[in-house]
Amino acid sequence: MIYLDHAATTKTAPEVVEAMLPYFTEYYGNAGSIYRLGSESKKAVIQARETVAATLGAERNEIFFTGSGSESDNWAVKGVYEAYRNKGKHIITSKIEHHAVLHTCEYLEKQGAEITYLDVDGDGIIDIEQLKRAVRPDTILISVMYANNEIGTIQPVREIGEIAAEQGILFHTDAVQVYGHLPVNVRDCHIDLLSASGHKFNGPKGVGFLYISNKAGIRSFIHGGQQERGRRAGTENVPGIVGLAAAAKRATGLMEERTVKETELRDYLIRQTEAKIPGAVLNGHRTKRLSNNVNFSFEGVEGESMLIMLDMAGICASSGSACTSGAVDPSHVLLALGADHERARGSLRLTLGEENTKEEMDTVVEELARIVDRVRGLAGR
Ligand SMILES: *Cc1c(COP(=O)(O)O)cnc(C)c1O
Repeated sequence: MIYLDHAATTKTAPEVVEAMLPYFTEYYGNAGSIYRLGSESKKAVIQARETVAATLGAERNEIFFTGSGSESDNWAVKGVYEAYRNKGKHIITSKIEHHAVLHTCEYLEKQGAEITYLDVDGDGIIDIEQLKRAVRPDTILISVMYANNEIGTIQPVREIGEIAAEQGILFHTDAVQVYGHLPVNVRDCHIDLLSASGHKFNGPKGVGFLYISNKAGIRSFIHGGQQERGRRAGTENVPGIVGLAAAAKRATGLMEERTVKETELRDYLIRQTEAKIPGAVLNGHRTKRLSNNVNFSFEGVEGESMLIMLDMAGICASSGSACTSGAVDPSHVLLALGADHERARGSLRLTLGEENTKEEMDTVVEELARIVDRVRGLAGR
């Protein structure tokens, strides 16, 4: 099997599993209890919070553990709206956000929020001038993702943060594809809220965090006990939290080496695909993109059929479009780039990880060439 879907999820690293295990069977105490068994759990959570904060240039009390990247996005956007709607009801986001942000914004529109969805250029980058023009006296939040999960394009986050800071507007960024892959500093980039998810950087599934700057007083998300400083109730997922922190530490240590390796493989895969498959169009920016992201559309070929044939060849990949009730929905990201429906339905995403090899890239290009030929042949009959 060749696994090329690391943007969907990653393997939990063995040393991360190792770090988690004692917190299932040995130190299983509730972190809220006062006996020693509970304080072992509490200590582990405090340590994890410290580890994560250090990777971001944040304070320990600014890290809130959640159940997923989606939850973090929901909390950030809904939390700001609830806390600041008396000040203003306007939120600025982009057309290429993850559905965890987009669908939350659509939900808030029904509650009375006004949302501006920024355009992106042909490479998927927002226009800073359009952002400046979109700011209104009643704007309370700018939510723009750090890097896109489909096409890997990296946004000018520092510039966005500077505009938000100048205007006194809170800035949230969905960094789920970036955290653990690129260095992130919340102070340098004027980020007030940042979402991340454990399973996107070789940590466990079902645990994420939201960084909430001390100056962004936002509301509780889950009401109940006093966990997460009273803002997100529920007995702590101690093994998950320990695993997320172990994965964060590991990813930080491996980051430089991994980025170099992935970038080399990425550019090799792009070059080979363009050389060997006619009508292959690269989606997203050629260099301002995540080191592990490759996304192509192939003229006259639908993404879904390619995925099925790739699967038969033992290759796991993904397409931006989603198949809902028999019809293929074009990717909202590719449509925002200005792609026509055919191109937006024909995208193929290949996302690399630290274990992929050059030989695998050769196999993938060979299989792809064969599959694209075959699909085009079938369509032409
Ligand atoms: C995966 C992903 C999410 C959702 O994270 P989950 O932990 O799977 O809920 C949100 N945003 C982006 C950009 C993602 O890639």
